[in-house]
Amino acid sequence: MKWQELKTRVRLGLQRFMYGRNGVDELTLLVLSVSMVAVFFSAIFRQPWLQLLYYVGVFGSLYRTLSKSLVKRRKENFAFLQRVRKVRSWFRIQQKIVSERKTHRHFKCPACKQRLRVPVGKGKITITCSKCGEKFSRKS
Ligand SMILES: [Zn+2]
Repeated sequence: MKWQELKTRVRLGLQRFMYGRNGVDELTLLVLSVSMVAVFFSAIFRQPWLQLLYYVGVFGSLYRTLSKSLVKRRKENFAFLQRVRKVRSWFRIQQKIVSERKTHRHFKCPACKQRLRVPVGKGKITITCSKCGEKFSRKS
């Protein structure tokens, strides 16, 4: 019972402490990941600047997490997400292609580069692009 009570008190205390603070967002996770990579390589190559990068990353992400300037932090995170939007969407598409590889095949329209999805195992089919109407044939 004592342990449960302690856990509850710690959780509530932490919630109270984090109220009105930024918390962990995507930019913070990236900064933290970069600093983890830096500490890994600094252990191998013994470069002081890698260790510095690690400390800057750890304190930077701590600062972002505990910051109460919510508007500024959200703006920074939003700008970051805007910049990496294409990369993130590419990874999401690749993930979708892998997860659907047994049921669907993905093609790009030769005319407009629109991604098209067709069911697998239909033999050679003519695909009509849903965006520009281009017709092309592929093996499904
Ligand atoms: Zn097209």
